[in-house]
Amino acid sequence: MASYVAAIDQGTTSTRCMIFDHSGRVVSVDQVEHRQIFPKAGWVEHDPVEIWTNTRQVCAGALAKADLVSSDVVAVGITNQRETTVVWEKATGKPVYNAIVWQDTRTDEIVNALAAGEDGQNRYQRKTGLPLATYFSGPKVKWILDNVEGTRERAERGELLFGNMDTWVLWNCTGGPDGGLHVTDPTNASRTMLMDLERLEWDADICAELGVPMAMLPEIRSSSEVYGKFRERGVFAGIPIAGILGDQQAATFGQACLSPGEAKNTYGTGNFVLLNTGTERVISENGLLTTVGYKIGGNDTVYCLEGSIAVTGSLVQWLRDNLGLIASAPEIEQVASTVEDNGGAYFVPAFSGLFAPHWRSDARGAIVGLTRYVNRGHLARAVLEATAFQTREVIEAMNADSGVPLKSLKVDGGMVGNELLMQFQADILGVPVIRPVVAETTALGAAYAAGLAVGFWASEEDIRSNWAKDKQWDPKMPTELREKQYAQWQKAVSKTLNWVD
Ligand code: ADP
Repeated sequence: MASYVAAIDQGTTSTRCMIFDHSGRVVSVDQVEHRQIFPKAGWVEHDPVEIWTNTRQVCAGALAKADLVSSDVVAVGITNQRETTVVWEKATGKPVYNAIVWQDTRTDEIVNALAAGEDGQNRYQRKTGLPLATYFSGPKVKWILDNVEGTRERAERGELLFGNMDTWVLWNCTGGPDGGLHVTDPTNASRTMLMDLERLEWDADICAELGVPMAMLPEIRSSSEVYGKFRERGVFAGIPIAGILGDQQAATFGQACLSPGEAKNTYGTGNFVLLNTGTERVISENGLLTTVGYKIGGNDTVYCLEGSIAVTGSLVQWLRDNLGLIASAPEIEQVASTVEDNGGAYFVPAFSGLFAPHWRSDARGAIVGLTRYVNRGHLARAVLEATAFQTREVIEAMNADSGVPLKSLKVDGGMVGNELLMQFQADILGVPVIRPVVAETTALGAAYAAGLAVGFWASEEDIRSNWAKDKQWDPKMPTELREKQYAQWQKAVSKTLNWVD
C-alpha cells in the first residue's frame, strides 16, 4: 500500500529529496551539492542543467535509501530557492544563460534607474509588496533579455520560457520539451516583483516597464493541487506533482505557523523570518516584505510579512572556504566556545548589500572593533552573533509593523544544530527560541502541500498535530548587556553603508 509523500527541495547550496510518512517523520533523505559560480564580485550563478541532473539523482537516491519504489509514493511536492532566475528554450530545454541566483547584485543599475522616480524604492510596493531591490526575479529577467543577444525577440515570439527553480524543476519533471508544464505557484510568483499581490496575476504595467514579455511567464496556479504527473521514465513515473511552495513559505507551513501572529525563522544560507498575517496584506513601513504565505487549492490566500537576511549560514561557509579558519561548518561552535564573548569584534556580512530591514545595495561587509586582543575564537563568535543580531533587527521591524511583540520564535534550518547560536539568539531577542523535532521544515512543508492535495492528509489540523517541540532556549543575558551589545551592532552596521558609489 502506498503510504509516503516525497518532497524535492531545490536549495541554494544543494538539492535534496526527502520522503515523509503520515506522521511527518523523515523516512529518507538524499542530497547533492551544486557548484556556486562567482564570475565577478557580486555575481552568483548556478548551472540549471547540473541542478536538474542532481534532482533526478536525489529522487532515485531517496527512494533507494528508504527501500521503496515509486508507487509507494502518493504525491511529490516541490520547494525551492526563491527568486533565482532561469530563462530557457522551450523547444530544447537549453538555458540561454546560467541561473542568476537571488544573492546576485548585478541588477544594481537597473534597480537604481527604476528607483529614480518619485516613489523611489517603493515604486511597486503597493502592487507587489516588495521594495525595489536586486533580490527579486523581474530585474534579473530584464538583465538576461538586455544582455544575451536576441533573447528579447525570441521571448516575445514565445520561444523562450522564464521560471524560478520550482518552474524549471516542474517543467523538466513533467516532460521538458515534450509537453512539460510551465506553471508556478503564488508564493514563488510573489517574489518576481511582476505579480499583483491581491489578484495573484502578472501585472501588465510592471512587465511592460521592465520589458519582460508576458509570453514567457508561467501560469500561476495554487500552492496545493495536482498540476500534473511525472513523465520521466524511471523515478516517480506517473506520480502526481501536487504542491509548490517557495522554500521560506514551505518552512512556515511545515512549522505549522497556520494562524495569524505565528512566526518562524529559518537559518540556512540566509535567514528568513516569516509572520503569518492571515488573509490581510500588511504593507510594511519598516523594511519588511509582504508576500504570499500559501494558497491551498481554492481556499483564501494567506499572506505573510517577511524579514529576509541575505547572509547568515553563508558567512560560516565563507569562513571555511575563503579564510580556511574552520574545516567544517559545525566546527565553528567549538572554535567560538574557546572564548567567553566576541572580544569587542562585530562582523556585518553585507556581501550582497543589506537586505531587510535596510535594503541598502550600497553596503559592503565589515569587521569592526578589532584590537590586538581579538583571536580566531572571537571572530568565530562574531560570525555566529551576526546571525542573531540581524534576526533581532527584523523582529523589531515586525513588532513595529504588527504592533504586537513576538512572544517566542520557532526556528529551523541548517544552523539550528548550533547550540551556542541558539542560546545567544534567545539572549539577544529576550524571548524563548523553540526548535521542532523535525527541523527539515522546508521539505516537510512542500510534502504537506502535496499530501493535502491528494487527501493523504485530511486538513491543516493534521499538520498542527504532527508538530512537536524538541528543545527550547530561554533568555539568560541581563537586559543591560543585551542592549549594550545590540547598540554596538547597530553602530557596526552604520559603518558598512555608502560603501559602493
Ligand atoms: P540552504 O537550504 O539555504 O541551502 P541549509 O538549511 O542546508 O541551507 O543550511 C546550510 C547552512 O547552514 C550553510 O550555510 C552552513 O554554513 C550552515 N551551517 C550548517 N551547520 C552549521 C553549524 N553547526 N553551525 C553554524 N552554521 C552551520
